[in-house]
Amino acid sequence: MNVRLVNDLTQDPLLYASFDSSSESLLLDCGYMFGLSLREIQKISSIFVSHTHFDHFMGFDHMLRMRIEQNRDVEIFGPSGFIFQAAGKLSGYSWNLCSDLNLNFIVFEIEPPVIKKTVLKAQEAYKLGEIEILPYDAVLAKKNNFIVKTAIMDHIIPSLAFSIKEIDSLKVDGEALASIGAQPGPWLGELKRDALAGHDLNGEIEFSNGIVFERRKLAELLFYLKRGKKVSYIVDTVFSDDILEKAVELSENSDELYCECAFLAEDADKAASSHHLTASQAAIIAKEANVKKLFPIHLSKRYTGRFRDVFLEAHGVFPHVYLSGKGEFKV
Ligand SMILES: [Zn+2]
Ligand SMILES: [Zn+2]
Repeated sequence: MNVRLVNDLTQDPLLYASFDSSSESLLLDCGYMFGLSLREIQKISSIFVSHTHFDHFMGFDHMLRMRIEQNRDVEIFGPSGFIFQAAGKLSGYSWNLCSDLNLNFIVFEIEPPVIKKTVLKAQEAYKLGEIEILPYDAVLAKKNNFIVKTAIMDHIIPSLAFSIKEIDSLKVDGEALASIGAQPGPWLGELKRDALAGHDLNGEIEFSNGIVFERRKLAELLFYLKRGKKVSYIVDTVFSDDILEKAVELSENSDELYCECAFLAEDADKAASSHHLTASQAAIIAKEANVKKLFPIHLSKRYTGRFRDVFLEAHGVFPHVYLSGKGEFKV
């Protein structure tokens, strides 16, 4: 999984995740997105919106413009009230001359104990129709190569935090394959599928050069496990015992945690009253969750030119702090 923070640290937070093994990409939050190429936007299969404050949802129109002629559905997930707000954005335009459009939005509104689902169809001028009610599940999306989970934070309004876990995969050791003199073929895919599924690897394979191998031995020789990366994203929330517990559970053992550090501790009163995090609170989440790297994001513009102070405050609590795009800060 390749993850890119699209904007600068004080701008709208936007995380773009792509996968080597798939043409699908994911977008976390949907604010200002002119830093994404047309091709990147057209690859997005699912958008996860934390909440609908302007800086997290205003890019929807740009995405719509870039995607409008694509015949490929987009899933969008958001918090309480999201279906009405997504439909509201689309209803702000006239669609009477667009009978050849086929871009549909499958909209999920996360509101425990339920998830509401609807499909906004181009062919129906994006009119709000039937809403399906599903039981709440923290797992929002589960595909062959990734799982996206959510936890609900508190920003006076609900704000969704997300984690993306790339599924572990088996890779073929090319040198080991060459060393046995076997040609890749359907046998390799079958062996990999069985090994991944934990099936018994009974039996043998005879290659065209006459060499016979036990399947179990071949799997040991040829495959190695590539651990899938875990990336978490937490923005716009107050800090409390309850939030800390939920944030830690979601982001536990992440390789990378992208976390709002809107304020410094010197402005903790402002953070508390606007339900935002300070750099040290974000670092407490990173530390408790045992993440590998903390990336502070969504800094208040008041700290432009004071990134080192943000780094030092977070670093005082948790040592593995990285300011995306700003090079290495040293203590
Ligand atoms: Zn907000
Ligand atoms: Zn925000």
